[in-house]
Amino acid sequence: MKILANDGIDPIGKKILEEAGFVVDTVHIAQEELINKLNGYDAVTVRSATKLRKELLDACPNIKVIGRGGVGMDNIDVDYARSKGITVVNTPAASSHSVAELVFAHLLNGVRFLFDSNRKMPVEGATNFGGLKKAYATGTELKGKTLGVVGFGRIGRATAQIALGLGMDVVYYDLFQGPVSLTLSLSGGVEVDLAVRQVELEQLFKVSDFISLHVPFLDKPVIGKEEFALLKDGVGLVNASRGGVIDELELVEALNSGKVAFAGLDVFENEPTPREALLTHPKVSLTPHIGAATDEAQERIGEELALLLIESLKK
Ligand code: NAD
Repeated sequence: MKILANDGIDPIGKKILEEAGFVVDTVHIAQEELINKLNGYDAVTVRSATKLRKELLDACPNIKVIGRGGVGMDNIDVDYARSKGITVVNTPAASSHSVAELVFAHLLNGVRFLFDSNRKMPVEGATNFGGLKKAYATGTELKGKTLGVVGFGRIGRATAQIALGLGMDVVYYDLFQGPVSLTLSLSGGVEVDLAVRQVELEQLFKVSDFISLHVPFLDKPVIGKEEFALLKDGVGLVNASRGGVIDELELVEALNSGKVAFAGLDVFENEPTPREALLTHPKVSLTPHIGAATDEAQERIGEELALLLIESLKK
């Protein structure tokens, strides 16, 4: 049986599949050519780049299994695929910790102006060292501040654990969950209960010094014009979930007015062509949707995906 890993697969995953007797093709076939070429395979794995829509699935009756390396399945017509008998699997937990760590890369970046100093130091560092030192003299610590986590699933909880380790207070809001107990496993098998408090969304907006969003894509932004008005002055925002969860035009305004001190963005409404006003904004720390892009997450994703594919294809 042949598997196309169209957005790549970690070598560990490829090895597991090959040892199980599958042929794994890691060439990338361009989206517009897939309609002619995908039917030569029994299964396909994708990340977020390749789109597997209804028309493509109709043209490829040989595809029995779709594997999504990662969480979000918005690039796949999942219900339609399943209605045609195609098994669709993903690896939702494999990258949670990597995404959570990226949130803190953005937060620490934000409170110490690294995004700005990294742009300015190469240009002004030798001639205006003192000026830049003065400009960045108002940093803040994360310790003792309140982090509001919107969406308390896998990544939201991993984010809360790191925040508590840094000495932050954590409040969270989740649409679907009751109170959650969060524990941390220490060496020696010791389990520690972590203190987090569930609050209403409006309360979270009002009390948080920093807010990190971990919800799926929704039909309207979680933070739009009205919600920006509720936020603390000088709040720091991080979005490593999905573009559109924060209204980008309102965000630019809030950054310009000083309502929002900084934003850390890994995801954008328009990928791969984010809004110019965000790309060039001096108060925005930017990454190109790399939340899951660590060696460790990719290994876990590759291994998990391979095992899921083997299980599904051998049924
Ligand atoms: P999850 O399903 O474990 O958690 C999502 C949580 O959000 C759930 O607890 C759900 O109840 C809650 N929720 C849903 N709608 C809500 C709403 N309107 N308000 C409040 N809570 C709501 O998902 P996860 O694995 O934690 O992933 C979270 C997000 O991160 C997803 O959007 C996912 O696509 C994204 N993600 C991004 C990257 C990246 O590279 N930046 C990588 C992986 C996942």
